[in-house]
Amino acid sequence: MDICYKFSKESFLDFFKLMQSFGQVHAPVRVSEQSFSFRPVEKPEQIAFEALRTILPPKKMFFPQRETLISYSGKEVKDHTPEPLAQVLFGVHPCDLAGLGIMDNIFSAGPPDSHYLARRQATLVVGLSCMPDKHCFCNSMGTDFPHSAYDIFLTDIGEDYYLQIATTLGEKLFDPKPDFIKTIDDQDNQSYKDFWTNRDKAFTSNFKSDNLKQIFDLEKDNPVWEELGKRCLSCGNCTPVCPTCYCFDVIDVASLDGNSGSREREWDSCQFTGFAKVSGDFNFRPGPVDRLKFWYRHKLHGFDDSYGLKTCVGCGRCTVSCPADIDDIVGVVLRLQASQNESKKDESA
Ligand code: SF4
Ligand code: SF4
Repeated sequence: MDICYKFSKESFLDFFKLMQSFGQVHAPVRVSEQSFSFRPVEKPEQIAFEALRTILPPKKMFFPQRETLISYSGKEVKDHTPEPLAQVLFGVHPCDLAGLGIMDNIFSAGPPDSHYLARRQATLVVGLSCMPDKHCFCNSMGTDFPHSAYDIFLTDIGEDYYLQIATTLGEKLFDPKPDFIKTIDDQDNQSYKDFWTNRDKAFTSNFKSDNLKQIFDLEKDNPVWEELGKRCLSCGNCTPVCPTCYCFDVIDVASLDGNSGSREREWDSCQFTGFAKVSGDFNFRPGPVDRLKFWYRHKLHGFDDSYGLKTCVGCGRCTVSCPADIDDIVGVVLRLQASQNESKKDESA
């Protein structure tokens, strides 16, 4: 159960200084007219509070696009497990928190990923409420409310932020309790409830997500896949922007004299032509249709059995990043569901 307080928006500088006392603060910053990125900030004026989705999700803080795992020189091998300084990630919305929770699961399962976990454990995560735009569908995926992966969460309740503290790390930040932190009353609790109720009404895109496995199993030959496959450029844009896409490649880079080198890990994409190529020059997902179908299934029900969750958190990044207007997940699911309904009607006629 979270510990709840509030503080006035006028006191945000005090809260910011408190975050700085923990470590370097990273927050959404406007980087072009329409885009935002998590960047290090030194003062509150740099933060784009209006940012809805950043270009890359929070995963980039813990799972960088390229990193060295080990290096060698002669017979000496060096382990590059990071020793990160404490840092704060501010302004993470509920869908991205859900994405972070999924990545935490994935990188902790099996042999724990020391690189990811070292950075994750050094980070205080501060969530922030938001209002959806037309591309958001986290309400369909059950990720529209903060459930986990945050230490502190702020909800905008007008002149104040409603403050939830979820972890021991978060509690330590407020010990001793600073003067700008205030006790909440019934009115604040009502304002908090009103915010989330109004936000719920603000969604314009949604679908029912309780039959996705059935839809993807039964509609695997639906014409929609051929249509999308014809337009897909296999550019792979949709995967780096996804908060839960984690595929990577590991490559060995040797020096020309053969005496030194490194083992690098870098992001990969299941939408690239060569991703599923194996020895013998066989490619088990050779065309865009196969790759798109795989990706949609993976996002919308592929993890149901192993993790009991879906890996799409409804952030809308793939929709806004696809140069071919393909990744309209809501539109595709609604079409598949409509086909299913039609088939059921035909059977009962
Ligand atoms: S599949 Fe698209 S909408 Fe879903 S989490 Fe990934 S980027 Fe966001
Ligand atoms: S971003 Fe669009 S065009 Fe590019 S690989 Fe993904 S679905 Fe295909």
